[in-house]
Amino acid sequence: MIRVMVSGAAGRMGQAVVAAVQGAPDMELVARADPAATGDDAFADVSQAIAATSPDVVVDFTQPHVAFANVSSCLSAGVHVVLGTTGMTDEDFATLSNLSATHGANCLFAPNFAVGAVLMMRFAAEASRHMPKAEIIEFHHDQKLDAPSGTALRTARLMQGDVPTHSVRLPGLVAHQEVILGGLGETLTIRHDSLSRESFMPGVLLAVRAVPTRPGITVGLEPLLFGDDAAG
Ligand code: NAD
Repeated sequence: MIRVMVSGAAGRMGQAVVAAVQGAPDMELVARADPAATGDDAFADVSQAIAATSPDVVVDFTQPHVAFANVSSCLSAGVHVVLGTTGMTDEDFATLSNLSATHGANCLFAPNFAVGAVLMMRFAAEASRHMPKAEIIEFHHDQKLDAPSGTALRTARLMQGDVPTHSVRLPGLVAHQEVILGGLGETLTIRHDSLSRESFMPGVLLAVRAVPTRPGITVGLEPLLFGDDAAG
């Protein structure tokens, strides 16, 4: 059994992860860390929860300003991390990479755990080799703190050319993205919609199972879905 702690467990994503871990036959939920969580297995703080329950893997879906400290605490304690919180910088990841190497604990970050979104990014990268003029429009619920989204930033990074991004924040939305490529007398639109937060759970569980055997920092689900040669 993989002993899993969920950080940000009272949040929108965290609650979905708690349910997914509880439903996974090879995982045990050992703690929920979140200042807003209540109950016997709830802790206000990630470090307290690690000290009390010794998880194998921590899944963090919190907020950009606290995720770096949370992941640092986990790696420093030798605990692997699956990170879904977006908004961290390249400098943050460089520091986490050093911590990972020092303490022999791994981190897998994916800006989007939905398999369809990973495919959308892959198709967009392929299409941009033939249609280099493109723009990205991402649509999210109005509580999302960062813009552009981590998915939009990663999509642009994987594509050829300079790809402008646009962000829409409205109630009612979950997570959606269109990549529009323009050519001579034609356009190509690649669109992905996460209609509920369940869409992210198969990817999160895949990452929990994989992270103990992937040294260092892994970015994106691509290596897990397509093999390491596909990593962008
Ligand atoms: P949310 O605001 O609903 O939940 C965040 C939770 O973190 C809250 O319950 C809050 O109390 C808790 N929290 C705050 N400080 C904490 C701390 N120090 N330790 C532990 N918990 C703490 O947010 P959300 O909608 O669930 O999104 C969370 C993050 O996940 C965001 O960065 C969002 O962009 C990202 N996200 C990623 C994916 C993906 O596939 N990678 C998908 C959806 C959302």
